[in-house]
Amino acid sequence: MLILEIFLFDLFVSKDGWCGRLCPVGAFYSLLGKRSPLRVIAARREACGDCMDCFAVCPESRVIKPALKGAEQGIGPVILSSECTNCGRCIDVCAKDVFQFGNRYAKDEIKRASEAKSHTQHSVGGQA
Ligand code: SF4
Ligand code: SF4
Repeated sequence: MLILEIFLFDLFVSKDGWCGRLCPVGAFYSLLGKRSPLRVIAARREACGDCMDCFAVCPESRVIKPALKGAEQGIGPVILSSECTNCGRCIDVCAKDVFQFGNRYAKDEIKRASEAKSHTQHSVGGQA
């Protein structure tokens, strides 16, 4: 009976409502996620082909967009929202290997690597 109620709730009231908002296991993972150093990172977001597969499989898809599309606003690529449960579905589904697991402090490392790469390209370009 409970399973039927959950099914009907997800079907008619709120898509992924049970997994995303009501499930006590999900709430526990969310609490862990707030402090967890392990985070999902859209490390290769420039390779995104906009297929939307990650949005389709993510139980909290609103957490993806800032990390994936926030480059111009200086947002991401680390998904820091506690609503991300680190389930890894986005990593598995993405054909472009945009996502990976990393630590919550990776943003600075990625930024430094990107700046170093950009600096190298400018130096090489300047010598040509
Ligand atoms: S699954 Fe990968 S390629 Fe598709 S929208 Fe998500 S990040 Fe982009
Ligand atoms: S790890 Fe799971 S919850 Fe987090 S963004 Fe990816 S699919 Fe969504």
